[in-house]
Amino acid sequence: MSDKNPPESFEQLPKQIQELFKASNVKTFFPPPTTDGTGTNSEDTDDERNKKHQATLQLIREFNLKPREIRDYLDRFVIQQAEAKQVLSVAICDHYNHVRQCLADPALRERDYAKQNILLLGPTGVGKTYLMRCIAKLIGVPLVKADATKFSETGYVGGDVEDLVRDLVKGSDGDVELAQYGIIYIDEIDKIASASGSSVGRDVSGRGVQINLLKLMEETDVNLQSQTDIAGQIQALMDFQRRSGPHKRTINTRHILFIVSGAFDKLTEQIKRRVQSGQIGFASAARDRPADDSDLLHLAQSRDFIDYGMEPEFVGRLPVRVACKTLTTEDLEKILLTSEGSILQQYRADFSGYGIDFEITSEALHEIASQAYAERTGARGLMTVLERVLRGFKFELPSTAIKTFRIDRSTIADPPATLQRLLRQNAAQQRDVLAADVAAFAARFQKDHGFELAFDETAIERLIELSLAADKTIRALCEEKFRDFHHGLKLIAGDGEPRRFAISREAVDAPDKVLSRWVVDRFKSGASSG
Ligand code: ADP
Repeated sequence: MSDKNPPESFEQLPKQIQELFKASNVKTFFPPPTTDGTGTNSEDTDDERNKKHQATLQLIREFNLKPREIRDYLDRFVIQQAEAKQVLSVAICDHYNHVRQCLADPALRERDYAKQNILLLGPTGVGKTYLMRCIAKLIGVPLVKADATKFSETGYVGGDVEDLVRDLVKGSDGDVELAQYGIIYIDEIDKIASASGSSVGRDVSGRGVQINLLKLMEETDVNLQSQTDIAGQIQALMDFQRRSGPHKRTINTRHILFIVSGAFDKLTEQIKRRVQSGQIGFASAARDRPADDSDLLHLAQSRDFIDYGMEPEFVGRLPVRVACKTLTTEDLEKILLTSEGSILQQYRADFSGYGIDFEITSEALHEIASQAYAERTGARGLMTVLERVLRGFKFELPSTAIKTFRIDRSTIADPPATLQRLLRQNAAQQRDVLAADVAAFAARFQKDHGFELAFDETAIERLIELSLAADKTIRALCEEKFRDFHHGLKLIAGDGEPRRFAISREAVDAPDKVLSRWVVDRFKSGASSG
């Protein structure tokens, strides 16, 4: 492909390049191939995209939420973390008010403004990401999350921090303008502490990644296509061919809000020592010692982070700091009961997909919460416990007649035993479900082969017995037993009679023997009559 003769349509690109392009997920920068083969896309797509884009931007231009409103919204989903909610609500309002003002009066852009980038501290699974996801959803801006550990200083091995910004554009469906006001969340930031600061840092490249992030957090123009992105290079070329003119090639990070978070485990030891020795006047903090060491994180100071191995400039770019606290058993119980996004709701939805409903006792909720607490993974422990308790139910119940069940203390204590009891109690209905499965097999057989297999009561009974004993579905069992029947029945009937065959218990137990007897009898009778 030469620069003199750039392709005028997607279809004119070499096939391999087209494939690469399709796989590269940059569809939104490039008009999708047209079905009419003209290579031109109707302006409608652009129009629609434009309308959507304007509506979302309008929300940001008119940003008018108050910190209390954001806090109230977060309360619906996130349990506890009052301090984090308050600090985040204020920071978010400040940030998006500033964005709104800059949009209204571009001259403001030139004034100095310290961005409210946020450092979220706290152990895993306590709602750090969840808080930010809820906020991004409320405001309508895109959010990307990545672990700091996946980046390397050069970007050759591992990711390049600028990919985060490009991901934000992808997350906004290619809407660069919207992506400019998005949120980038970087977790495990404590893992890129540099070794020079203390013994916890991974290596010198941790420092390099911090420096690279600094540039992004401040203000820089990021190229929309990474240098290693072939499809991106073609895009540049193709943009000249677009009727709508060239698209924006870079994105400015000035209004992108950065949230970094980390557990900073070792930092708590450092603070604990300080609190215990009472050196720096933390007498009051020492008095109300928190239940969990990680709850000491709110006492961390810039100096602590620098000692930990974070670059002073990096720490300086994170003026808003807040620690999320460890969740107690009561908090976890409250999540199950009241959070609008609780994992229990998800389980309800999963079961209701099969028309199954469950009730759960308050003792069971408490037990789930205390087992989850013991996992030490915050609210993530709830998922671990619920999965352990309900996995058997999820597997078995959809194939039964059971439409409702109850989760109580005994269910949590011994899920398999409770499940077996439930299945036994419903054995009578289960028989009907399995009998219906036999009828369904017979119907399918008739449709496929034109012969009616008339299972009598003894055969149905026997199939149910075998199905339960072998833990096999009736369908699998019948398909295995009557695998060769249509060949045999064809021999017997040819294109004529009989079309109906009575299946008894004997045919279930020894299908091949019964079938060959039928075949032999048929030929005998044929021979004697002939
Ligand atoms: P982290 O603090 O490690 O970022 P997350 O915010 O990703 O943890 O939490 C994992 C999941 O646990 C969330 O998606 C949410 O469902 C649940 N969760 C965590 N903390 C809370 C909380 N305080 N209130 C309600 N749900 C929570």
